[in-house]
Amino acid sequence: MKIIKIKPQGFCKGVIYAINIVEKTLNDKNVKKPIYMLGNIVHNKNIVNSFRKKGIIVLEGQSREEMIEQVQSGTVIITAHGACNKIKTRAKEKGLTVIDATCRNVDRTHQLIKDKLDNGYIVYYYGKEKHPETEGVLGISSDITLITENTDLTLIPKNKGKAFLTNQTTMSYFDVYQIYEKLKQIIPKLELGEEVCSATRRRQEAVLLYRETIDLCIVVGDALSNNTKKLKEVAEKNGINAIQIEDASQLAYYDLSDYKTVGVTAGASTPNDIVDEVIAVLKMKENTSN
Ligand code: SF4
Repeated sequence: MKIIKIKPQGFCKGVIYAINIVEKTLNDKNVKKPIYMLGNIVHNKNIVNSFRKKGIIVLEGQSREEMIEQVQSGTVIITAHGACNKIKTRAKEKGLTVIDATCRNVDRTHQLIKDKLDNGYIVYYYGKEKHPETEGVLGISSDITLITENTDLTLIPKNKGKAFLTNQTTMSYFDVYQIYEKLKQIIPKLELGEEVCSATRRRQEAVLLYRETIDLCIVVGDALSNNTKKLKEVAEKNGINAIQIEDASQLAYYDLSDYKTVGVTAGASTPNDIVDEVIAVLKMKENTSN
């Protein structure tokens, strides 16, 4: 079996930024305790658990609104996926210190949407239902229409006015354009603000470069990570067999003996050492079968 490490890999800028902010908060003696995190800082269990061990309380709940009500004092960290102003205002009303680790790409999408709403556009947002990034965006205004992978676009009401489509930063680059083309038939003046972040897009493009070369793509990343899930989907939609695993231990669930060339890619919040371990185990399997 030939193993190809498909680059880019390693943390994206947003993940590095969020981790640095949490580390800085932990090291700041003046920060009010306890320190809470409004959900998972990024979608990777190893990272989240390492912060838990350092004393951070990771809040869980159906929504950010519900989570913030669990906190009575201290500091709350907004995760890389962002949160709407309502949440930040509520935290301040409760006397909490707010530390914002929102990825700048997500901030930019929020601003873009606010500008369009202020200018009288109807805004459509393509995102994953219940994902924290989507939740943050929908919190901007109840006028935003959510489009998910399950939405029947033919049922979207016709609209002749100014309209704007944008998306969650970690969606498939290809799906965004497809949705735009379909929606434009119903909404002729629809403008597209494609917001797939470069870390997500470059990983999707890199997998496709190996379309003819590999017969299996192993996507390494957390089950909750949307960019990881989309990486697998992009591979599959383009005829590449793909599996998603969280770490090397999950390789045990698959029989890989028939594959000759395997590509290994990873989500933007997957630590390098987890991918290196996957590759090491694949090489070990290869040696054992020889
Ligand atoms: S995947 Fe993209 S949007 Fe998400 S944290 Fe990384 S750079 Fe930001």
